[in-house]
Amino acid sequence: MVGQNYKEVLSIVQKTVESAKRNPDDVTLIAVSKTKPVELLQNAYDSGARDFGENKVQEIIAKYDKLPEDIRWHMIGHLQTNKVKYIADKVYMIHSVDTEKLAATISKEAIKAGRIIPVLIEVNVAKEDTKYGVMPEECEAFIRSISSLPGIIVKGLMTIAPFVENGEDNRVHFQALKQLSVDIMQKNIDNVSMEFLSMGMSGDYETAIEEGANFVRVGTKIFGERNYLAQSDK
Ligand SMILES: *Cc1c(COP(=O)(O)O)cnc(C)c1O
Repeated sequence: MVGQNYKEVLSIVQKTVESAKRNPDDVTLIAVSKTKPVELLQNAYDSGARDFGENKVQEIIAKYDKLPEDIRWHMIGHLQTNKVKYIADKVYMIHSVDTEKLAATISKEAIKAGRIIPVLIEVNVAKEDTKYGVMPEECEAFIRSISSLPGIIVKGLMTIAPFVENGEDNRVHFQALKQLSVDIMQKNIDNVSMEFLSMGMSGDYETAIEEGANFVRVGTKIFGERNYLAQSDK
């Protein structure tokens, strides 16, 4: 089931990339496996998935050793500074940097782990009260404030768009994030690239790809609905 779902979503991703006249290598499907057991992640892996997204440190740690080494683990959720040390040697990329304190902690832990961690800046592009992320108008100043930290490299922007019935409704937000990344790229800030846009989830990933997404983060359409109540440590 999960393997089949993964292949179906991947095929829609590929068709959308093609009709948007984009390069297939420019878009990566991240299978968002939060709350799901390793057996289901293995099913997705067996169907070709290598990029997995998680939003809890505990889950990355619990799953990491039980699954193949060539998986790229993407931290996509709100990250507490005191937990960075547990995943600094495990994550491929952190999509959710939105405070100087968090960036400084990732910097410190990356140096301890002997690596450079690529990060994306989470932007609250729709200015929702409930969301983490920096405000669009504060984004450039925020990036400048962390750009010279050793051990991290800013590689782009991420957003969690509003929950909508019709993915089309988020097009304006995806366009806004793309425009923001173009504006920031033109500033030529040292140590900062705007290589990646992480945007689009189960309900709106096709629209996001049309508007320039490089990472789409799809959970429900691959793994099914999440049952948080059944989880003891969500
Ligand atoms: C859960 C989650 C997703 C996946 O959401 P679906 O609607 O299940 O595809 C994507 N991004 C983030 C940051 C998430 O927390």
